[in-house]
Amino acid sequence: MTKEELKNEIKRLKNQLDVTVVAHFYQQDEVYEFGDITGDSLELAKKAKADDSKYLVFCGVGFMGQSVKVLSPEKRVLMPKIACCSMAKMIEVEAYEESVKIMNDSGIPNENILPITYINSSAAVKAEVGKMGGLVCTSSNAKMIIETALKEGKKIFFIPDRCLGQNIANDMGLKSAVIGIDKNIADADIICYNGFCSVHQLFVPSDIDFYKEKYPDILVAVHPECDPSVVAKADFTGSTSQIIKWVKEQPINQKLAIGTEFNLVNRLREKNTYVLSSTKPECPTMNETTLEELYAVLKSIEDEKPINEVIVDDETVKWARIALERMMELS
Ligand code: SF4
Repeated sequence: MTKEELKNEIKRLKNQLDVTVVAHFYQQDEVYEFGDITGDSLELAKKAKADDSKYLVFCGVGFMGQSVKVLSPEKRVLMPKIACCSMAKMIEVEAYEESVKIMNDSGIPNENILPITYINSSAAVKAEVGKMGGLVCTSSNAKMIIETALKEGKKIFFIPDRCLGQNIANDMGLKSAVIGIDKNIADADIICYNGFCSVHQLFVPSDIDFYKEKYPDILVAVHPECDPSVVAKADFTGSTSQIIKWVKEQPINQKLAIGTEFNLVNRLREKNTYVLSSTKPECPTMNETTLEELYAVLKSIEDEKPINEVIVDDETVKWARIALERMMELS
């Protein structure tokens, strides 16, 4: 099939089937354009939960499809590609339990630990967080969730992204520490797991220096998954949705450099916008989803033999859902 034929087939299948295509901002353009629902993790979780189609075809990474399934277990969630975010892969249940033990050994008992997991984690890890009375956050609401959680007077155990945890601690004037790196973790308000995003780690402070020297009036926006040394030099820090909104608010002639995933920045190009890196910051797992795979999933629904269905066991759904719903109630 040529690309045009493929696109026409996808349109036909979307029109004929009881299906909604969900696409994250970081998907390739040719896949993204078929999204009935688009957005960042929080928007997708909320909108997909409210959708009433029988099938949700989720173009994103594994933990996102799992989150939708956990929030709406009655829905059939299929993914053209079940690709795993490298950050989410950095923490599994064993590593979570080991980290809790390290905190216990540092003199922090379980009853003084409030775990918060960034949405970029598996359903199994979210379930562990739910069991310990914790909750989920996204980059859009992390600060508000942490502010609210701190009122319980406990230590925040923030997983898996150390950068997001450290950046929020810096923003709020709180002390953070990273397990395995910092000594005296018991002194910190926010204790972070040592995970990170392989894409946002590509941005370094000298990228900002380069653009500021070249265009002294340029404004720089970065994602909070970037290292704190990068965030400290940026003019604006926000989630993907917040960056899109910020870019739209800038005057048309304002030069901007953006430090987040390439596909999203590329869509903002008409706004005098540069990618804040000499290395193309593409997320390999987000880019794994292809038009051919989107077509294959839709065709499998038409043939009544659905493929790549997201399955989460009932016990995991129960506890991960509690952690996700605590976040939804607050946001
Ligand atoms: Fe995971 Fe980073 Fe890719 Fe987002 S950009 S899906 S955090 S690897």
